[in-house]
Amino acid sequence: MITRRKTRKIYVGSVPIGGDAPISVQSMTKTDTRNVKETLSQIFRLKEAGCEIVRVSVPDKESVRALKEIKKESPLPVIADIHFNHRLALESIENGADCLRINPGNIGDKEKLKTIIKSAKNKEISIRIGINSGSLEKHILKKYGATTAEAMVESALNNIKFFEDMDFRDIKISIKASDVERTVKAYRLLGEKVDYPFHVGITEAGTYFSGTIKSSIGIGILLYEGIGDTIRVSLTSNPEEEVKVAWEILKSLGLRKRGVEIVSCPTCSRLEVNLIPIVSEIERRLANLDYPLHLAIMGCVVNGPGEASEAEIGLACGKGVGLIYRKGEIQKKVKEDEMIDELIKTINIYLKEKTIDFKIL
Ligand code: SF4
Repeated sequence: MITRRKTRKIYVGSVPIGGDAPISVQSMTKTDTRNVKETLSQIFRLKEAGCEIVRVSVPDKESVRALKEIKKESPLPVIADIHFNHRLALESIENGADCLRINPGNIGDKEKLKTIIKSAKNKEISIRIGINSGSLEKHILKKYGATTAEAMVESALNNIKFFEDMDFRDIKISIKASDVERTVKAYRLLGEKVDYPFHVGITEAGTYFSGTIKSSIGIGILLYEGIGDTIRVSLTSNPEEEVKVAWEILKSLGLRKRGVEIVSCPTCSRLEVNLIPIVSEIERRLANLDYPLHLAIMGCVVNGPGEASEAEIGLACGKGVGLIYRKGEIQKKVKEDEMIDELIKTINIYLKEKTIDFKIL
């Protein structure tokens, strides 16, 4: 059982972060923010995939103008991602951003940061303080000689104090390095010192394959220790994939439930059907189901019936045939070429009886 670190609750739009709120999933659009149509269509796809908060980068004036239009239509709370330019931050607040993501180290002098904090306070929106190993303050780098976890924590604490001195506490913190070890250490150290909610992620994690592994390990370690209130998986891939990976991490730690959980066997020489395409096809057809269905698909009669009968719905394959289970009871015996359709039929009936308004096609 994971005991979550006690944190104060803040909001990004209507989504609570920290306290007793569920760990939320966020992602970032990868379109040109100035292209409102494309950005919104990506946001809608992200929502469909299970994203709960979206971040858009705001690198110039045109993007700030687009943000206003995006915000009007967005089905998700929108975080404006700002670097270097405090005017863009102020205009993003005016244009309806639900939260800002800034790295105070690159905003410039403290007066500029003060104007951002004041404006966020007036509009009652939150701010993520993003501490990044790549952009630590010079005096801190000099003191530690390298971008260590301790150096990152000192930078975070200094910045937090600045916000607190202005009586602004609607903050969440991220403290990221591109390697797992330093990131985990920095979050652990900072978690002992403050009670602000944490945005957790491994920055620049890499491609879909390696980045998924790196993120799962880094984010997984922290979540297992109770650290993390909202997560973002960063992948050099389309953002819907980031959201799917994020959910799988949360689901595998039992922290959230969403969508089908497929238990399937790795296959071996006892396999009696061509299981891999069967599982892929079933996974594809169930991809948009929100209900957390526990589904087992097993390749032979050795372990198949046991696993299949423990799931809500199960398929245990034999030579050219499959047994479909529902809550431990055999429902029917079907031929191999009818397995998928029959299984889907069984699931649709099951969902209907549970009054879940979703039909798998
Ligand atoms: Fe092998 Fe059967 Fe186990 Fe699948 S369920 S891995 S086919 S023994």
